[in-house]
Amino acid sequence: MTDSYAVGVDLGGTTVRVALVDRTGRIHHEAAYDSHVERGPEPVIDDMARWVGEVIAAAGVPRERIVGIGIGSPGPLSPSRGIVHKAANLPDWINVPLTRAMHQRTGLRSIMDNDANLAAYGEFWAGAGRDVDNMVMLTLGTGIGAGVVIRGELLHGHFENAGELGHWIVVPNGRRCSCGQRGCLEVYASAGNVARRVAESIRDGEPSILSGLVQKGVPFGAREVVQAVQDGDPLASRLWDEACYYLAIACVNIQHAYNPTRIVMAGGMSKAGDVLTQLVQKHFELLAWNLYDDYPEIRIAVLGDDAGVIGAAGWAWKAEQEGRWAAEPAC
Ligand SMILES: [Zn+2]
Repeated sequence: MTDSYAVGVDLGGTTVRVALVDRTGRIHHEAAYDSHVERGPEPVIDDMARWVGEVIAAAGVPRERIVGIGIGSPGPLSPSRGIVHKAANLPDWINVPLTRAMHQRTGLRSIMDNDANLAAYGEFWAGAGRDVDNMVMLTLGTGIGAGVVIRGELLHGHFENAGELGHWIVVPNGRRCSCGQRGCLEVYASAGNVARRVAESIRDGEPSILSGLVQKGVPFGAREVVQAVQDGDPLASRLWDEACYYLAIACVNIQHAYNPTRIVMAGGMSKAGDVLTQLVQKHFELLAWNLYDDYPEIRIAVLGDDAGVIGAAGWAWKAEQEGRWAAEPAC
């Protein structure tokens, strides 16, 4: 065994994914565990450290062949200090020194970043952006996560929370977002919110082929909405089109702010493929000014649920190559 690996950890509110990833972005071994975050941070970190050890052991890779651990976590957090300040879906995680805790428990150097940033970095490093230097990714799930990669670097900004494009205000005084602002992009264009708005409109009396599900109290998501769009349902089509319009506004703003080669769409809504990208592209062309010859290409992500662990490991590989591991343990 001569190959070396980085460990990618994707910490989520329901699942922790752990993978050994080689220097080309290929997953060698991976596992997923129930995170049980209701226990608070300490037991979850103990388990994460143990799971990392289990995955390394199961892969049969000697410890000296592990370069370190990259961790994607919900935030807000400080990547440079390795601290999770708080996280909406991780109860009692207040200023948790995560990289130091993982280093102390595993003996492996650790680095961390926002989970959406690292998913974007994963696609940049080993997926839909592997052939470009500048890429922005929007992950259209329950909310909208985003990551901005400029010349191969994740954009953090002075306060380390740049790139929260899901909370770009697109409708002044619009609908209330879970973040407390009004009119955020994610309220109009995330998978969760599109499905919720379809259900609300049905309850308000609009006809739809999804009415039966609402009457029976059966929850549905972006998948059912896309199917309804493809079946020609007027309500689903109208709200899907509206979501694509707001995503196109975001793409115009992304173009002006960051000028990436590529804008990548990931998450539940991206499974719609062309049904998403063609409509966003159509609105983009109507909205964008016409002074440029070149515009970013809008593409669907390719790594699926693996983007987070691959990106976390890729970030660890980058730390290894550039000698910038953060948060050495203070022991
Ligand atoms: Zn918001």
